[in-house]
Amino acid sequence: MAYIILNKNNFFNNLDIIAKSTKGRDKIALVLKDNAYGHGLLEMASLAKEGGVKKAVVRTAKEAEAVCDFFEYILVLAEIPLSKNDKIRYTINDINSIERFPQGCRVELKVDTGMHRNGIDINELEEAFVKIKDAKLVLEAVFTHHRSADELTSEWFWQKENFKTVKEESQRLSQKYGFGTLRFHSSNSASLFRHESFDEDMARVGIAAYGCLELPEALHMEKLKPVLSLWADKISQRELKVGERVGYGGEYTAASDCIIGNYEFGYGDGFLRCCAKEGYKTPEGIELLGRISMDNSTFAGCEEKLLVFSDARVVAKYAKTISYEVLTSLKPEIKRVVI
Ligand SMILES: *Cc1c(COP(=O)(O)O)cnc(C)c1O
Repeated sequence: MAYIILNKNNFFNNLDIIAKSTKGRDKIALVLKDNAYGHGLLEMASLAKEGGVKKAVVRTAKEAEAVCDFFEYILVLAEIPLSKNDKIRYTINDINSIERFPQGCRVELKVDTGMHRNGIDINELEEAFVKIKDAKLVLEAVFTHHRSADELTSEWFWQKENFKTVKEESQRLSQKYGFGTLRFHSSNSASLFRHESFDEDMARVGIAAYGCLELPEALHMEKLKPVLSLWADKISQRELKVGERVGYGGEYTAASDCIIGNYEFGYGDGFLRCCAKEGYKTPEGIELLGRISMDNSTFAGCEEKLLVFSDARVVAKYAKTISYEVLTSLKPEIKRVVI
């Protein structure tokens, strides 16, 4: 069996580091979309609650309902709801969607400050406020998203400037149209650590909480620790004679007589198959032999339990992708154990 171990101490260590930047745990909104970046939605919601996190960000209403009891505040990023729920806030991503929200629904307005993905145009701000008022929605916050917070370019700065304008204008419009005090947020993990003095109402933190944030070296930060490790049990072992080949296509050929172990995990569990091409080795230096099968992978070792990886960033290098993809690829069916 493949199984995931979630390290509680590492998660709490990461929350401590994040809370220093946000100046308090109440300003951390933990991003739990996509099965909590593959960690397990309910497992991470429960750990977050234990760690004093009161806010969460998810993608769908279904995810929000599932974690409702763990948080005081939940922001849904993508879905327009059919009914309202007082703990859950919904995102307005497009000016033409405003009339589709149910009356009385608590909403947050997303503004495009340069990413050009979701959110209304800066020039549509007043029109959006009017439409929100006409639709009788409860506007609570205005927010944006950075496209390049993890790169040392000027982009983060000009998006921040654009959002500053949005904040000032929103405050004026909020008064004009009779909405209350608005909250503002713009930071994901990378952006949070670029602020010298963070002063927004919350930060939407995903990858940093899971301990896999990668930033350019010039941006110094304390050591985040990966929360998730993937393990697999051995199914069988055998002796391979020199010249014998292993697995589909017989891609690996034994250079000498050796003992090999076959472990119960593969791309069916969400481990990226392309890692095999790059000569994958486990954190303990045990070499993967040949191709990864759907539910089987062979290694040059035979211990009963194999640590497949303990840092998704390392796997991401082999797979030429980002840790987010490595993590969210892990199937929800894999057993999760908290230690
Ligand atoms: C996914 C997401 C985040 C979290 O990003 P990280 O880089 O994981 O911190 C924050 N905000 C929005 C809108 C997102 O979609």
